[in-house]
Amino acid sequence: MEFQLTSKDYAEYIRLAYQKIHENGDYITSLDAATGDGDHWANLDSGFQKLNEIADSLGTMCLFEEFRQIGSTMMSVIGGSSGILYGSAYLEAAKTLEGKETIGNNELYQVLSAMLKAMMSRGNAKPGWKTMIDCLYPAVECYKACLEEKASIKELLVRVRRAAIDGAENTRNMEAVKGRASYQTGKGVGYLDPGAVTMSYQLEILFNYALGKMEE
Ligand code: ADP
Ligand code: MG
Repeated sequence: MEFQLTSKDYAEYIRLAYQKIHENGDYITSLDAATGDGDHWANLDSGFQKLNEIADSLGTMCLFEEFRQIGSTMMSVIGGSSGILYGSAYLEAAKTLEGKETIGNNELYQVLSAMLKAMMSRGNAKPGWKTMIDCLYPAVECYKACLEEKASIKELLVRVRRAAIDGAENTRNMEAVKGRASYQTGKGVGYLDPGAVTMSYQLEILFNYALGKMEE
């Protein structure tokens, strides 16, 4: 059994991700107030709010156009480091979806790898530097390992979801190397990185969604 996500499914996922992000405003803002300038949630939430508003139209596009639209919306509405990083990630991921009608297991791996590559080249951050990369990188590594091991798709989805959540949790003990948290005394140690937590929300919702599609 496999999952196959259409552009309409992906638009539905965007709505669910928006709800999860929107509900956690106070929590994410408190994390960013401790390690950054406190605007991460507000920025991301306004980007997702805009995506939520245009979700019906996103669902009518082909995946390539949908991802390009998500990328340019994020780039212009979110602003800050996150806007540029997510915008670049979606634009790079769009390229892997040219001519594709659905996102299955292999396509999802290509999408997440392209996002990681774009974020790492755009932001110049390495794994372990207490950023959103510390959620996405272990998730992509786990995905790769599951594909190599030929794990069942259901097991893969559960393991990658876990790797994303654990990755965000592991930022608690990391010292920030770049970005605003690196200027704080203590370099953010003891606090989760807000960008890693919001990334883990998105991946958790996406993998839950794909799991739900397998059970249909
Ligand atoms: P800003 O630093 O411009 O205020 P945001 O508030 O939008 O950015 O987002 C902060 C989050 O962005 C951080 O928690 C971190 O996860 C992520 N981040 C910041 N700089 C980088 C970078 N160079 N590479 C990857 N992620 C980064
Ligand atoms: Mg900020």
